[in-house]
Amino acid sequence: MSVKIAVLPGDGIGKEIVDEALKVLEVLNRSFGLDATWEEGTIGGIGYDVAGDPYPEATQKLVKASDAVLLGAVGGPKWEPLAKPLRPEAGLLRIREDLGLFANYRPAKVFKQLVNASTLKPEVISGVDILVVRELVSGIYFGQPRGIEELPNGEKRGFNTLAYKTSEIQRIARKAFEAARLRSNRVCSIDKANVLEATEYWREVVTELHAAEYSDVELSHMYVDNAAMQLIRNPKQFDVIVTTNMFGDILSDEASMLTGSIGMLPSASIGVDYAMYEPIHGSAPDIAGQNKANPLATILSAAMMLRFSLNRADLADKVEQAVENTLDAGVRTIDLADGGAFVSCSGMGDAVCEALEALA
Ligand code: NAD
Repeated sequence: MSVKIAVLPGDGIGKEIVDEALKVLEVLNRSFGLDATWEEGTIGGIGYDVAGDPYPEATQKLVKASDAVLLGAVGGPKWEPLAKPLRPEAGLLRIREDLGLFANYRPAKVFKQLVNASTLKPEVISGVDILVVRELVSGIYFGQPRGIEELPNGEKRGFNTLAYKTSEIQRIARKAFEAARLRSNRVCSIDKANVLEATEYWREVVTELHAAEYSDVELSHMYVDNAAMQLIRNPKQFDVIVTTNMFGDILSDEASMLTGSIGMLPSASIGVDYAMYEPIHGSAPDIAGQNKANPLATILSAAMMLRFSLNRADLADKVEQAVENTLDAGVRTIDLADGGAFVSCSGMGDAVCEALEALA
């Protein structure tokens, strides 16, 4: 079945890294029976440059007419003086909102070839393969009422609201259970149920959904303070973590640092009808246009797209294997080279394509 991908390279290193992911998709089309087509659109600074809007109307139409979105990165000093709604980052927030991308998946996988890149001991992190599933459009970041107010005694008070509805908890928990079934079949739901009623209810709903629909998946619960400690103490105990917006924000950054390298980490943001895939890093203006960036996070984002949106977990496995084999062969971009020999961004893309062809 033919699938259509909206490709939004964005700014800075965006085009360089996305081009390498597209080369990988071309190999899959040519040698592995994928039938994918793609069309490019603009977002971020380039969107503003061509259409006066960081999330142009043409892009809005394109993404809604596609099976998945592959994004590079947005932003750069050129657009910093603009008013906030016109800045590249506003385009990113708008596309997430517009497509209703409520589930954010951030895998933190330590590649054995890169264990020394982390600040943690190799024996603690080797073999780590965690997927953080973070709720992305509700919780304390969105709850009402919120604000900063003046009290009658003249003192000021800042406040936010943490609230979760049944349906919001169920839909994110479902995503976590379904992702776990494609991995090691374990979900750890993280909350602060001992103190916060909103997450006491979170735990209740996750437990009920598990019993009703996902009893084949192993479910555990953990308080967020303990989880923060366990991620550093023994990260290998986790498979899928599901948690609220704010806890997920914090824990996914913590988990990503286990791997030690920002250029390696993909992500997916998924809603009911749409999904978007992007590396977790930004547009790296300091190295943009120099063919130096590490494209692996984007290539691995394309692998997530194959697994979650295009129903081709078999091809996702092949791409991930090709990345492993490329690292095994000692191929490194400058960020991974530790002072040793390195290849360019396109050199890394070529090496992955070659490793992929060898798996055909
Ligand atoms: P950044 O992630 O772009 O860069 C941080 C550092 O990591 C830089 O030294 C950069 O060279 C390096 N780096 C990042 N990706 C790399 C890669 N693939 N290969 C090799 N090195 C890589 O973060 P920043 O410098 O804080 O932000 C730069 C711009 O990106 C800003 O405008 C920011 O708003 C934007 N940003 C966008 C996103 C996104 O598009 N999702 C995310 C974060 C930041």
